[in-house]
Amino acid sequence: MKRSIVWFRNDLRVHDNEALVDAIKHSDEIVPVYILDPRIIYGKTSFGFRKRGRFRAQFLIEALTDLRSRLQALNSNLYIRIGHPEDVIPQLARACRTHYVYCNRERTQEEVDVQDALEQKLWSIGQEMRYYRGKMLYYTADLPFPITHCPDQFTQFRKEVEKIVKVRLPHDAPICKLDSLSIELEEGDIPSLEELDYKSSASDYTQGHRFVGGETAGLAELNYYVWDSHLIKKYKETRNGLLGRDYSSKFSAYLSLGCLSPKLVYNEISKYENEHGSNDSTYWLKFELMWRDFFRFMGKKHGNSIFRLTGTRNIMPDFANDNMTLFEKWKDARTGIPFIDSNMRELNTTGFMSNRGRQLVASFLVKDMKLNWLMGAEYFESMLVDYDPCSNYGNWNYVAGVGADTREDRYFMIPSQARRYDPQAEYIKYWLPELETIAPELLFNPFEQEASLALQQVDYTQPCVHIKNW
Ligand SMILES: Cc1cc2nc3c(=O)[nH]c(=O)nc-3n(C[C@H](O)[C@H](O)[C@H](O)COP(=O)(O)OP(=O)(O)OC[C@H]3O[C@@H](n4cnc5c(N)ncnc54)[C@H](O)[C@@H]3O)c2cc1C
Repeated sequence: MKRSIVWFRNDLRVHDNEALVDAIKHSDEIVPVYILDPRIIYGKTSFGFRKRGRFRAQFLIEALTDLRSRLQALNSNLYIRIGHPEDVIPQLARACRTHYVYCNRERTQEEVDVQDALEQKLWSIGQEMRYYRGKMLYYTADLPFPITHCPDQFTQFRKEVEKIVKVRLPHDAPICKLDSLSIELEEGDIPSLEELDYKSSASDYTQGHRFVGGETAGLAELNYYVWDSHLIKKYKETRNGLLGRDYSSKFSAYLSLGCLSPKLVYNEISKYENEHGSNDSTYWLKFELMWRDFFRFMGKKHGNSIFRLTGTRNIMPDFANDNMTLFEKWKDARTGIPFIDSNMRELNTTGFMSNRGRQLVASFLVKDMKLNWLMGAEYFESMLVDYDPCSNYGNWNYVAGVGADTREDRYFMIPSQARRYDPQAEYIKYWLPELETIAPELLFNPFEQEASLALQQVDYTQPCVHIKNW
């Protein structure tokens, strides 16, 4: 009797899950587990934000609930435990008399430390880890260069990879019923948000997009965006949008927790191109998925430097003020700049913000407020429903000008960005209804005299910094 543990991490799906597929192939019985690690649930970032904020926690709870029911449909289950994986898994392994622990490998330090500690403990009880790949389009082994030589410029990376390396086909989800576990094992409850000590709800808002966690919802979003609505055909024109569900794919949260496999998304786009023709938009979504991979390779190549103030370029940013009072104005959507505040209000209400919004609020924090970029990155880490270490810190590295690729190291003029991307101020007014009566033109630059007067009349917050060149 060969029994194996499948340790689910950021791969909460049954489709294209190599660790799961191989565990099933090589074992008579599997024990799928998810461990809620208190260091992440209750832990704080260095500036004191809860590491996994409420939107991320809500999404995770929903994703675990969904994964459990998908595994139950295969005659299996998802066993939930709370504790340090490197302690809990060896205990389970002993109790269940397993042989191997199958998991998809992680790349960033905290996760690698846990998997290394676990591996050591498993060796001491004569068991082993079996690692697989689950998070990326490209396999390190398929790249035309070793990771240490991965180009630091995205364009160079893309050119060297996309023509030569084929994205592998995703694995199908298992369809045959699995043998049920022949030992008694308590399944363990999936805790609620309150049980995990989250004070405020993350699901009862009515404005903005609500990401429902889980593979089932992720597959439905993929189906909707590609096949049902054909929105993918216009992605390149709409992707800089701000308002509504449809301007971009909304796959990010599903990709972050692995409810969707990037290979599946890529291959569905290819299938769509074969059936309906390819265009710049269908290509552009693949292009964005390559950005996601690129940041992961950068994380692997440069290690912890993506999390440091000096970034992967190892240079001091121009500004790095730790003024908490000023920072809180940014965080609480009280900068007095309507376009920035509306984006921050969306983030604080829903856990999501568009890519355009993220670039602009990040640029404003770094270049106009002259604050330490790590404060913004840590707040995003806590709040973003789609938080992903490499994508988040990689993008912040760029905005702060400390990323290896300097292409994005530029200044965004917020008033002209607002005029361009929100010409009727619909987005601003949606999130800041207190500004409803003000003419759109007066909402873009609060330093213009007429705008300043109009904003004062509705008691809108005064700008927190003065920016001469607007
Ligand atoms: C400061 C900053 C922080 C960010 N933090 C995160 C984060 O923590 N997690 C995250 O997934 N994305 C992050 N992004 C990238 C991007 O904003 C989001 O991936 C995107 O807005 C998610 O919406 P979507 O799925 O509809 O994207 P779409 O535009 O539909 O793109 C499709 C997919 O491509 C990937 N992608 C798109 N743009 C980028 C990008 N710039 N970098 C990396 N991958 C990208 C995502 O996986 C996304 O789901 C950040 C961007 C900035 C500027």
